[in-house]
Amino acid sequence: MVFMKRLGYTAAVVFIALSFNLAAKTKPVITLADAKAHYIIEVMKHITWPNEDQITHLNIAISGKNKDLFDALNNEVSNKTLSKSIKIHQLKNLDNVQNSYEIIIVHRSQFSLIPAIIKKHKNTLIISDGKTERQNLMVGLLAFKKNIKLTINRENLIAHGFAVSNGLLGFAGTKDDLKEQLKDKEKTLKKVLQDVELKEEELKKSNVLLVKNRNELAKIQFDLKMQSSQLSRVKTQFHSLRKNKSAIEFELAENKNSLLKQQQLIADKEAEHQQQQQKLFQLNLNIEQSEGKLKQQVVKLKKQSNIIDLKEEKITGQRKLLYITIAVALIILILKFVVLRANRIRKQTNKELANLNEQLYELATTDDMTKLFNRRHFLELAQRGLNQLQRIKSMGAVLMIDIDHFKKINDNYGHAAGDRVLIEVANILKDNLRNYDVVGRVGGEEFAMLLPNSDIDTATQIAERIREKIADSSTPFQQVSIKLTISIGLTAIQENESSIDDIINRADKALYQAKSSGRNTVTLL
Ligand code: GH3
Ligand code: MG
Ligand code: MG
Repeated sequence: MVFMKRLGYTAAVVFIALSFNLAAKTKPVITLADAKAHYIIEVMKHITWPNEDQITHLNIAISGKNKDLFDALNNEVSNKTLSKSIKIHQLKNLDNVQNSYEIIIVHRSQFSLIPAIIKKHKNTLIISDGKTERQNLMVGLLAFKKNIKLTINRENLIAHGFAVSNGLLGFAGTKDDLKEQLKDKEKTLKKVLQDVELKEEELKKSNVLLVKNRNELAKIQFDLKMQSSQLSRVKTQFHSLRKNKSAIEFELAENKNSLLKQQQLIADKEAEHQQQQQKLFQLNLNIEQSEGKLKQQVVKLKKQSNIIDLKEEKITGQRKLLYITIAVALIILILKFVVLRANRIRKQTNKELANLNEQLYELATTDDMTKLFNRRHFLELAQRGLNQLQRIKSMGAVLMIDIDHFKKINDNYGHAAGDRVLIEVANILKDNLRNYDVVGRVGGEEFAMLLPNSDIDTATQIAERIREKIADSSTPFQQVSIKLTISIGLTAIQENESSIDDIINRADKALYQAKSSGRNTVTLL
């Protein structure tokens, strides 16, 4: 099988080379130099230099004049993406090579120099361009015996610690290389198989153990569950016990306290008891002493009580006297209060009586509606006035005033309107009075006036003025204003005339004439 693979690789390499050659014949795009350059760069990817860490870029040297390879390598390098940059050099003389190169491609004409080059350049990969000995072949490209013969130097690689990847051996190693590789792989495989068998056995054992452990685990888990439920029950019991314990402890402490207190109380009481016994004893002594004293005092007291009895008799007499004195004083006080009260009531009553008298007088002398003097009082005052006038020989006049058609006012507007009109006329008469004039309501709608110290002309003027004022006025009543006129009879008081009635009668006659002559007028008689 390994042999078949080897054949396959060689055939593939030959096929690539053939393709190049055929392509070169028909279509000269890829040359032999291109193929070599491709091969060299591909090989480089599979090789690790012993001092790889120190290499910043790879230097490839071509010995002799090989311009085609130089160009092809440059072209290959510029078209590929590589991990390190590559520089291509041409070496004219291999003997005096001083610089270090990572790869030196040696032409077949200089093969004899290879051992010397290997010695001098230990870390340089030597590629021989041309046929070389079979034992020196590590990997090589052999196609068209004449044209492509590239070989990597085996001795150089082994001696200087180059690392070569299996991939390179796969496509470019020798048959022996592949055999060795296969043997290695078989060994590794066998070892792996043994390991696998060992592992399988271990696994089986582990599985058995695992099942056993699992069962045990399940059992343990079950036990654990049981124990945990028991534990929780025990815990609850424990909690309640702990509660009980603390309650009992608390109670115990309280009982202890109360016991201590009671013990203390008993001790206190005992001490108190002893004290009281001592006191009792002392008291007994005192009582005995006191009894002796008491007897003496009883004798004294008896004497004193006799004295007191005597004094009490005296005090009773004095007390009786005091009571009588107080009673007399009280009676005097009450009497005084009653007299004062009676006086006050009498004064009050007198005041009220005076007020009543005043009101009575007003009622007796005044007309309630018009507040003018009534007929009787007017006649009295007029008579007195007349008397005075006659005494002082002065003049005077009397007016009789009567509202015209007063009945109609009552009929048209009602009795209340008539009353209102009477008040209005009375007010106008009052407004026109002089201080000493006297006016009164002497009939239903009739008024009389005494004008002392007035001659007939003055009296006429006054009468006219009153008549005009009343004719000009109007009495407001509800929504209407009532107009009215008066007629006045006027007469002058004659010398030595003493009866007011005669004068008033004469004024009445004058009034009758005023009515007859058409009303709203003043007539003199
Ligand atoms: P004349 O012009 O002729 O005096 O006509 P008169 O209507 O005024 O006279 P008469 O004597 O015919 O009527 C007087 C009326 O006055 C009759 C009476 O009912 C009325 N009278 C009398 N006293 C009062 C009173 O106090 N109030 C009212 N409202 N009317 C009264
Ligand atoms: Mg009238
Ligand atoms: Mg009249």
